[in-house]
Amino acid sequence: MKKHNFYAGPSILPEYTIKKTAEAILDFAGTGLSVMEVSHRSKEFVAVMDEATALVKELLQVPETHEVLFLQGGASTQFFTVPFNLLKTKAAYLNTGTWSNKAIKEAKLFGEIVEVASSKDTTYNYIPKGYVVPEDVDYFHYTTNNTIYGTQIHHDPEVSVPLIADMSSDIFSRPIDVSKYDLIYAGAQKNLAPAGVTLVIVRKEALGKVDRPIPTMIDYRTHIEKGSMFNTPPCVPVFAALQTLRWLKENGGIEAIAKVNQEKAAIIYDELDRNKCFEPVVKDPADRSLMNITFVMTKAYKEKEAEFFELATSKNCVGIKGHRSIGGFRASTYNAMPKESIQVLVDAMKEFEQKQA
Ligand SMILES: *Cc1c(COP(=O)(O)O)cnc(C)c1O
Repeated sequence: MKKHNFYAGPSILPEYTIKKTAEAILDFAGTGLSVMEVSHRSKEFVAVMDEATALVKELLQVPETHEVLFLQGGASTQFFTVPFNLLKTKAAYLNTGTWSNKAIKEAKLFGEIVEVASSKDTTYNYIPKGYVVPEDVDYFHYTTNNTIYGTQIHHDPEVSVPLIADMSSDIFSRPIDVSKYDLIYAGAQKNLAPAGVTLVIVRKEALGKVDRPIPTMIDYRTHIEKGSMFNTPPCVPVFAALQTLRWLKENGGIEAIAKVNQEKAAIIYDELDRNKCFEPVVKDPADRSLMNITFVMTKAYKEKEAEFFELATSKNCVGIKGHRSIGGFRASTYNAMPKESIQVLVDAMKEFEQKQA
């Protein structure tokens, strides 16, 4: 039987994506070949890349000023590709956790980095507010959704410098205003496709302004010029991404999925706020992630973590262990997660509470 998949990444994908990809692995677009063994220059695969690019533009309302790229190396490669291409002397970063820190570490190889604020003091369980972004930086970088800690920035920040965001774990989950960003990147394996492809949306005008030589593969202009086909793209993940994008469009697009995501997260947060055995890690509802919901046992039940884990596992819930760096639990509720799975987890929490009485 199908498990209730709460893994943080790689993570749940729509049944539609998995089925269509399985079919294409056996016979791709009637070619009699697998999508794994067909040339990326074949007209059938070029059509996949073209439609995937077009659907990203349509779903996120990407303006003409921006290009959509499918690259490799994960979000982690973007941590250095971004400053390589865009950092002249100085950039500002908001530190909201592990991924921000990794981005900051790489950026420091290219220039001066101003950390405008950090929530490290309380293990990143809130989003810093009221910070000031210096006017003289080349860009401001932030992580929209903190996959490990369960915090999320729900609105595009208002800054007067170019904006860059790591949206790996909440891209396509809510409306964003792409025109406000010089660059957005996202590893696909949270909300789009299997690992192996990274989505980048970049403002063309922002490129070509640094003096340093840029290796061909790391230069965004290479991939813009070649339509993400400069070298062999990850054909299977791109094919799967296209299926997820079609599924998303079919289900009403970003506005519709955002509403469902709010409803799903509310079911869990309401239970965490009510149930005497559990509490959410992130106290301020405004900072709570709708994609990764982190929670712990309340003080009186601290010793019973393993017991709840066992109960949830017996109900076929998988992937609810918190990240090794913070412990507790984490329920990841990406776009593809059905409400029924959420209900199974919440019912397990209720059952656990009743058992304690
Ligand atoms: C998972 C994740 C990453 C790392 O992505 P890779 O593709 O494994 O390099 C970076 N940022 C965020 C926000 C993530 O959730």
